[in-house]
Amino acid sequence: MRKVLLSDLDGTLLDLKSYSFAQSEASVNELKEEGVPIVFCSSKSRVEQEFYRGALGIEDPFIVENGSAIFIPRGYFSKKIPFNSYVIDDFEVITIGKPVGFIRDIIHQARTYLGLSFTCYFDLSAEDVSMYTGLDLRSSRRAMQREFSETILKGDVNDGFLDFLSHNKLKSIPGSKFQTIISSNADKGKAVDILLALYENEWGEVKSYGVGDSVNDFEMLQTVDDPYLVQRPGSQWAELGDVTIKNVQGIGPAGWNKVSRILLES
Ligand SMILES: [Mg+2]
Repeated sequence: MRKVLLSDLDGTLLDLKSYSFAQSEASVNELKEEGVPIVFCSSKSRVEQEFYRGALGIEDPFIVENGSAIFIPRGYFSKKIPFNSYVIDDFEVITIGKPVGFIRDIIHQARTYLGLSFTCYFDLSAEDVSMYTGLDLRSSRRAMQREFSETILKGDVNDGFLDFLSHNKLKSIPGSKFQTIISSNADKGKAVDILLALYENEWGEVKSYGVGDSVNDFEMLQTVDDPYLVQRPGSQWAELGDVTIKNVQGIGPAGWNKVSRILLES
């Protein structure tokens, strides 16, 4: 039976502070040699994920912006994709979320009508984003090229705003420093489900493994056959309240390496 690995990026495959993959690169290469797809499933945008796919030589499909869309390299699956999809550049895209233009429009309306003063990525220069996030300038430029969500940096996110969002079928995902405004439909679990159906359509039964580090990975971990949680800095595991999700020793990429070992040896 073929195996597929669904992976979060920040704090999982990538070091949480430096965003480096130096520690996980050898395991990535082993999985590639064994023909195990490594599917990124993260809050990161397409442009950000393409950077890491390019750097690691990964050519598998990927799930962007918290389950907003699935990007599948054209010709990756030999069978026709049995879902609504469209072509962008070299990808077939299945969209679950909403385009960023729509989301920005709603945020503008909310600021105007509700008199709110929060700051969004679209108000900022790459230098500002770099200052807020600790990302270098190039990474900041990539982070700003979002297609299905908008990031709010600071300000008065209140109940009125959340109601306004929900009335417009949007939701706010709280992060450690930011809020992500995104379609209510965007769902990593839904995206993983669709992609696994495509793998099964192609290969027959597959065994899916998932690895993440935070509550933001919950939907993805609940959807795979074999879910794992790596440690966060301070050697703690996020509290997900699901006994089927296994904790592995090792912070970020160190834990990721353990999961890839489990996958290869099972
Ligand atoms: Mg993470």
